[in-house]
Amino acid sequence: MKFLHLFSVIACSLAVLSGPAFALEHETCCTRAKAAGKVCEHKCCEKARKDGKVCEKCNGKKEKKEDK
Ligand SMILES: [Zn+2]
Ligand SMILES: [Zn+2]
Repeated sequence: MKFLHLFSVIACSLAVLSGPAFALEHETCCTRAKAAGKVCEHKCCEKARKDGKVCEKCNGKKEKKEDK
């Protein structure tokens, strides 16, 4: 019986860890807008988009996560 309990705990934590964490990794104002079929309305993002880039201020560089 203990084994079953342990298994469900592990399954739950795995689901929690792999679900939202993975989604949040790339979630920015721009990706969210894109997912909704729109473009991001932030001034900075709009400007970057006109240059054919993504806004670094909002989307950041992959490994650097400086948040305010
Ligand atoms: Zn944006
Ligand atoms: Zn921006």
